[in-house]
Amino acid sequence: MSEASTIFDKIIAREIPADIVYENDDCLAFHDIQPQAPVHVLVIPKRRIENVASLQDGDSEIAGKLLLAVGHVARQLNLAETGYRVVANCGADGGQSVDHLHLHVLGGRQMKWPPG
Ligand code: 5GP
Repeated sequence: MSEASTIFDKIIAREIPADIVYENDDCLAFHDIQPQAPVHVLVIPKRRIENVASLQDGDSEIAGKLLLAVGHVARQLNLAETGYRVVANCGADGGQSVDHLHLHVLGGRQMKWPPG
């Protein structure tokens, strides 16, 4: 693995607890510890990838699987009909604080635009 270890590796390894809502061979989804909406779930690849900017051409499969996992989570948590927001913070200006690729799934309230 090329990128530095993060807290998400510990969640994947079950070394620290997380409220997991969905899992498959490649992805894990769990509730954010500081929710910004009534539903706030993080969808991550189990393989360590730093962020959107570090995705390579060979990562198209895992990138697609992450989006499909978002759909699973949204249906499971009854967000699919009312709608929800998917956010990927990337790098310093993007507000990324954990250097392990993750998609925020936010729902259960009306989202505003533009984001802060
Ligand atoms: P970022 O700011 O990198 O886009 O998002 C990282 C997210 O991870 C934040 O929303 C933060 O609340 C969440 N987070 C950080 N540490 C933990 C943790 O130990 N457990 C869980 N469930 N979420 C975490």
